[in-house]
Amino acid sequence: MDIAVIGGGPAGLFAAIHASQSGKVTVLERGDTPGRKLLITASGQCNLTHEGTPEEFLHRYQGKGEFLKSALESFTPGETISWFTRLGLKCTSNEDGKVFPASRRAADVLRVLTDQCAKFNVRIISDFRVNSASKTAGGFSLCCADGKTVRASRIIIATGGITCPATGSSGDGFKLAQSLGHRIVTPRLGLCGITAADHFLRPLSGVAFSSAVIRVSRNGRDICTHEGPLVITSKGFSGPAIVDRSSRMDAGDTITIDFTGSRQAFIKRVIELASLRGSRQLATVIHEAGIPRSLVSCMLQHAGIDGARKSAEVSKKQLLGTANLFTSSSFTIAQVGDLFTAMVTAGGVDTSEVNHRTMESLLTPGLFFAGEVLDIDGESGGYNLQAAWSTGALAGRSCLA
Ligand SMILES: Cc1cc2nc3c(=O)[nH]c(=O)nc-3n(C[C@H](O)[C@H](O)[C@H](O)COP(=O)(O)OP(=O)(O)OC[C@H]3O[C@@H](n4cnc5c(N)ncnc54)[C@H](O)[C@@H]3O)c2cc1C
Repeated sequence: MDIAVIGGGPAGLFAAIHASQSGKVTVLERGDTPGRKLLITASGQCNLTHEGTPEEFLHRYQGKGEFLKSALESFTPGETISWFTRLGLKCTSNEDGKVFPASRRAADVLRVLTDQCAKFNVRIISDFRVNSASKTAGGFSLCCADGKTVRASRIIIATGGITCPATGSSGDGFKLAQSLGHRIVTPRLGLCGITAADHFLRPLSGVAFSSAVIRVSRNGRDICTHEGPLVITSKGFSGPAIVDRSSRMDAGDTITIDFTGSRQAFIKRVIELASLRGSRQLATVIHEAGIPRSLVSCMLQHAGIDGARKSAEVSKKQLLGTANLFTSSSFTIAQVGDLFTAMVTAGGVDTSEVNHRTMESLLTPGLFFAGEVLDIDGESGGYNLQAAWSTGALAGRSCLA
């Protein structure tokens, strides 16, 4: 083989299509069909990218955007939309900028990819799980579990991460990359909810907040802050405010939540309302300042505060203390997601050992990487698939050079 792509996910198929324009390309896929994870993206609707410029995308990858700059510029989010549209897949954007196929069917996205593979004579060999890879004089030798061996002059590892192992991504690529000399940044789960150890808000499971602010700290040091929609779950918390920073969190960290999203304004409002409507109950004042009644009663009960007291009878210090419960409520994180529900893997092939202009290994010439196997993880909203398209296109084109 000229070029072997290990992994038939979005990154691998895209790399294969772009490499096939002037080389013989084979995709080796461990499952019986390619793109199984793609089919479950956005509950089967496939949020395939986001509106925006490459520059705007750089901030969406947990501080790792700089590595992706060349890839995003060489295959931009706009090009993703026009590439699929040109091939007959109409795209549509939500108000928040998320881009989907107009049909809202991930299967249509996969069909475009497999049709292009067929058009450019990309061979897809399924049920071929690459177990080991070694460098040979002429390129690489790849062995399958049943002993079959193939040789290729160049290879692209596009085996994804470790989440949702039923879709075929279970970390094989990390072992393959390691055996070819690469360092692996310890894989972590990302785009997932968290379990809170002291979850006294469990009865409020399902209550959502349009804009909350979270702060995560470890051993007294701040790790990250983020703002966005948040939802209370039976285990802890989820929603973009949590999910988009989950790959930075660890069990044992403290998460402090401002359910109001705007501490100063909320406290000002509580003080105003308490002085204007002193005969109202404390709980009512807090509710009228913008907190759902269910959260007010659960929080006050947990703090042992009598919400039935008239607000005029509450001292300013007590009033501030009560308001603070809603703007800085702390929980210990017991667990960050799990393998079956987390949507991405943070960690993976150390990007400092990969040429960002080509996606080629800096250690082993002829070896390329694409997609989630790399140590990059994006926020929710189409950023991870865009990373797959951009790194896939770049790796595919570069391995022809
Ligand atoms: C539930 C869910 C919803 C998501 N929704 C979105 C979304 O809407 N938008 C978005 O941007 N991102 C979304 N993501 C993330 C996105 O799906 C991934 O980032 C993307 O699929 C990564 O593409 P990839 O090609 O790198 O890896 P994968 O899609 O994981 O593909 C890797 C492929 O390699 C194969 N493979 C693995 N090991 C071997 C081996 N040893 N030999 C041969 N083949 C192998 C696997 O079988 C698999 O087919 C979602 C993820 C999940 C789990």
